[in-house]
Amino acid sequence: MHPDQEDEIAYTLDRVRIPYFIWGEPLLRIYGILVPRPKQFSGWVVPDRFLNEANESMRSLGYEHCPHGKTCTFLQDGIGSHPDPDRHYHPGEYKGLCIPGIRELTISFYAKSRLFSYFPDPNAGPPEANDPYYTLASDARFPIVAFPLPPWVARGRHPLSRYPVKVPKPNKYIEAIIGLRCRALDGSMFAGHWIVEINFLQRLFTNDPENTRIRITDLSTPFRQYMVIRCFYNMPTFNRELISFQYLHRVYGELARADLLPPPEGIVQLGEQSDFQRRLREWNMMI
Ligand SMILES: [Zn+2]
Repeated sequence: MHPDQEDEIAYTLDRVRIPYFIWGEPLLRIYGILVPRPKQFSGWVVPDRFLNEANESMRSLGYEHCPHGKTCTFLQDGIGSHPDPDRHYHPGEYKGLCIPGIRELTISFYAKSRLFSYFPDPNAGPPEANDPYYTLASDARFPIVAFPLPPWVARGRHPLSRYPVKVPKPNKYIEAIIGLRCRALDGSMFAGHWIVEINFLQRLFTNDPENTRIRITDLSTPFRQYMVIRCFYNMPTFNRELISFQYLHRVYGELARADLLPPPEGIVQLGEQSDFQRRLREWNMMI
């Protein structure tokens, strides 16, 4: 997404006091992670009760939501493994900046309860300085990526010259994504996207020389232990994968007991469900 377009949406939501934050690849790139498809996916989260109002704001910018919803073939093909959004928009070219041969941008809005259920609603406008969950994309703790990049593929902290876009703090975001991966263990959500995101987020703690501020110790229990196992590269890959996968089931149990599992997505993958039960029995785990 072009930065001007992102800023314009953030400004419009702030102007009518709609709380929002962004997620997915554009957010990972602000954290400094090099992820593909920076141009095609733009993910926005709003509290459920603001979905319709957000739609009105998008209309005021000239974006009509796609009437095909989940059956949109472009959506199936165009936003990779992301879960289906509650509302999505195909804005077409922006200021004549559509790049030939590159897939069109899809702007996707999600109800907060689906993916970030236990996050508090963000403020409308900028977060408080000590907000534990949210900050701005210009936060000095995000890296400055040293070499200049065209705006489509920029990475790292937003310059102060941009409109302040609201983002989740990395530790809270990583914990939520691990929670979504846990939810997928029992077959009530697709696993694919969360596996992809965790692989990217893991890079913050292993081979990213630009990350000097986001530490694994910022994660709380049991998410920190899970990430430590994943980053323990002295262990043979097979063992590391197996032990981290086993540990994920413990995380699932802890989240379930604390009532912090994301809600099921209404997808029942029977094979996944029976495999999950079988693993719990084999590994002698009680959920
Ligand atoms: Zn569509």
